[in-house]
Amino acid sequence: MSILVTGGAGYIGSHLCAELLEAGYDVVVADNFVNGNAESLRRVEEIAHRSLSVYRCDLLDSAGLRGIFENHRIEAVIHLAGLKAVGESVEEPLSYYRNNVAGTLSLLETMRRFEVRKLVFSSSATVYGSTASPPISEGFSLGVTNPYGRTKLVVEEILGDLHASDPRWSIALLRYFNPIGAHSSGRIGEDPCGVPSNLMPYITQVAIGQREELRIFGNDYPTLDGTGVRDYIHVVDLATGHLQALRKIVASRGIDAYNLGTGYGVSVLQLVKAFEKASGRQIPFRFVERRPGDVAASYADPSKAARELEWRATRGIDAMCLDAWRWQLGNPMGYAEMREGGQIIHENRIRHSVLAVSGVGEGSL
Ligand code: UDP
Repeated sequence: MSILVTGGAGYIGSHLCAELLEAGYDVVVADNFVNGNAESLRRVEEIAHRSLSVYRCDLLDSAGLRGIFENHRIEAVIHLAGLKAVGESVEEPLSYYRNNVAGTLSLLETMRRFEVRKLVFSSSATVYGSTASPPISEGFSLGVTNPYGRTKLVVEEILGDLHASDPRWSIALLRYFNPIGAHSSGRIGEDPCGVPSNLMPYITQVAIGQREELRIFGNDYPTLDGTGVRDYIHVVDLATGHLQALRKIVASRGIDAYNLGTGYGVSVLQLVKAFEKASGRQIPFRFVERRPGDVAASYADPSKAARELEWRATRGIDAMCLDAWRWQLGNPMGYAEMREGGQIIHENRIRHSVLAVSGVGEGSL
């Protein structure tokens, strides 16, 4: 029996695949490689000393998806695939609804066809909207302020309807707070496309000299030092949260939402200071206007996950900074240096879903 990870080649997906392999699961990845990178999966295999089955497959390609379910006995799906840039979602809402909502529908229809009814869905704390005052627990009212958030909320609602129509489904909705950091090996990490919009990758790029200074969006919030407060969670802790959710959905039925966060708020300035300590580099910064849509403070009440999933985050902010720095220092261009002439070196080793359908899939990476 295998676990299908959609979006497995991305930042969270690659760390999740490493943990799944190390825990002994057989892992199948479906990724369209728009944001994900094949090199990350090659390194996952290197870290775990085990191999994955990898398919280039867009979720909207239902024939391709069917091919994967025909080739493997899938026990459960961890669904991470989707577009994730808030700003871009405001400019291109239709792409977000097509990829994140229609893509999920296509996946769910295929799962139903193959009678796979166990799903872990990658949701986001953004579903709590802008009025929730922390610590935020799962019962808070939901509301969103941008199309990206709406895709997450709509999919949560679709999954609720699906479960109501057929209680044999078993679904965990994981609401991520702010994942940062990297695998302690320094081999996999976050590799944003273009200018990072999130704080940590921006800081690491300033530290390495790729960007001149950090712009801190607002210093007049009602927080301890005036800068925005978030719940940063180590990406490996986030990954282990998925493993615990997987164990739960395999053993039971129902639908439940879980916050994956540490429960601690950290301000932008506190994160900058922690990073400076971890890296020994100074991060020049300048205060600028608040970023539209940002809230002053957001952090989780993670007690439901502790109670029901027996999971809690164990890595602190210093480890997050050290690991993010190790990754950035060892991979100043992210995975890009592994490309030759725009081609991903291991491209030819990815199974193309069309080939896989006709049974001509390549081996692992
Ligand atoms: N932030 C910042 N400068 C940046 C990026 C982010 O000051 O270049 C701040 C942002 O205003 C927020 C925090 O850092 O207070 C985390 O932002 P991020 O985009 O990483 O996460 P999100 O706002 O989605 O929780």
